[in-house]
Amino acid sequence: MIGSGGAGLTAAISSAEEGCSVTVLSKTATGAASATSYSSGFFTFPDEDLSAGEYRDLVRGVGKNLSREDLLEALGEQARDCLLQLRSWGATLRFLGGGHATVIDSARVPMTSGSGLVSELREIASDKGVTFLENVFVTRLLVEGGRVFGVDYLDWTTGEAGRLFSKAVILATGGAGQIFLRNDTPARVTGDGYALALESGLALEDMEFIQFYPLGFDEPRFPCWMIRLPVLDLARLTDGSGREFLREEMKARGLRDGMAVSLFARDMAARIIQEKLADGGEVLLHLEDIERSRWGEWDLRKSLGCYPHGVTPWEYGPVHVSPLAHYFSGGVAIDARASTSIEGLFAAGEVTGGVDGASRVGGNALTGMVFSGITAGRGAARLALSASPRPFKQGEGPRKSGFTRGRGPSPRVLKDEIKRLNQECLGPLREEGSILRGVSTLEEYRRSLPAMTIEKPTDLLEALELRSLILASLAVGYSALSREESRGVHFRTDHPREVPGFERPQEVRIEGGRFVTRFKDR
Ligand SMILES: Cc1cc2nc3c(=O)[nH]c(=O)nc-3n(C[C@H](O)[C@H](O)[C@H](O)COP(=O)(O)OP(=O)(O)OC[C@H]3O[C@@H](n4cnc5c(N)ncnc54)[C@H](O)[C@@H]3O)c2cc1C
Repeated sequence: MIGSGGAGLTAAISSAEEGCSVTVLSKTATGAASATSYSSGFFTFPDEDLSAGEYRDLVRGVGKNLSREDLLEALGEQARDCLLQLRSWGATLRFLGGGHATVIDSARVPMTSGSGLVSELREIASDKGVTFLENVFVTRLLVEGGRVFGVDYLDWTTGEAGRLFSKAVILATGGAGQIFLRNDTPARVTGDGYALALESGLALEDMEFIQFYPLGFDEPRFPCWMIRLPVLDLARLTDGSGREFLREEMKARGLRDGMAVSLFARDMAARIIQEKLADGGEVLLHLEDIERSRWGEWDLRKSLGCYPHGVTPWEYGPVHVSPLAHYFSGGVAIDARASTSIEGLFAAGEVTGGVDGASRVGGNALTGMVFSGITAGRGAARLALSASPRPFKQGEGPRKSGFTRGRGPSPRVLKDEIKRLNQECLGPLREEGSILRGVSTLEEYRRSLPAMTIEKPTDLLEALELRSLILASLAVGYSALSREESRGVHFRTDHPREVPGFERPQEVRIEGGRFVTRFKDR
């Protein structure tokens, strides 16, 4: 198992339950620095109030008809059972009715409910005999003859390289929010799984579809953190002239409150906020509107994400806000059994693509994560238990770092340059000229990274992540360039409307050293 967020841990537990010997490799402490631990712990799934058919229609509609039907079918049928399975293992999960569930009561770190889920899953996995290998960065999938044999890794705290053979491997490395300067994901969410997949010859699909959360603090005095959309019901969002431009759009679209925007229309909200900013305007959230009697309410403090920083933003008056990179809809192509096209290689969680299409229903990432985690875990275990061992023939030893040490810039400086570039060129509003500029600069980084100063272990980790950032960014850039239309979260100012011929998923891969894209038949 590569990764110990929700996908990796649910996969590990279900594999162990099948009687398999499981090792989870994480590039930090188990479960730490995962998007799952930062999450709000809110699920959307079919239940007695939302039939499987209604759920599929919802996901398909919000995803602008790009969701893969085989995955939607399986998710609609199995999501509820997967969540019940999670609860039967001992995870705290409250079913709310109306097609939703939450882990809110299990939070051990008050702000981020997801951290409660992660610590529970870690304990359950440990009780089932799962082994954890921490602070190891997986640098390569061992693939030969269309089959996976294990992984190479580097312990970034010591610099030692290692190799682990396995009959099945599950990629559960999460998304790549950190390719952008403005994001609300943990610092280690750097797209490593996308890079591992691309370098193994796999295709990624729908990489142009990156969800930007509409509201994030955009003032140096506040942390770069999302502000949950239900706050819109307590505080006005205006431009510099005081016009409630988002409220007007919500009314026109029949979106009755902030929760409706959060569930169904994050793409619209992020786009019109970003357009306002691109025109040189301001976007202000009037936190001073929040009644004094409500300031201490736990939900509100959590909703504003200010608890751990001791900040009380409502005492400052209006604050500047702008969208933040939040979630990758696209990723490694899997089938309904969570298998990739490499034999023995499965994938689960945000690193995969296909369910969301062009935009995601709020709460559906965690549902997809649990479904694909459990499915991949079972599938990998069955394969591993039935397959006979085969020798891996490649002669070379474990992969080392893959970059040059020297007296050049620190990897952190280069990462920041790339994040700034992506923010400008591949952010919420895109057009051909800026995408081309982004892609050609990224290609230069790919061709000739300068020698880097590596002084401490975290420099080594950052240098390893740099390669992932570059490859993940290029996958996004080339995909965004080819999709000459606007759909869901992908907004091209030079092609501002949906174009019927583009109602197809797109894949991107590396062939002969070059990125190539292709629209697929549905
Ligand atoms: C602030 C925030 C709030 C959210 N709230 C919700 C919500 O309420 N509902 C919802 O549906 N979705 C939500 N999401 C999205 C959802 O949390 C994520 O999509 C989901 O948790 C991803 O889980 P994952 O296991 O796939 O990846 P992660 O949880 O990110 O885990 C990835 C793991 O892979 C490891 N890893 C990565 N690369 C390597 C490598 N090279 N070698 C070894 N290990 C590696 C990491 O260390 C980590 O352990 C939210 C996202 C954010 C950022």
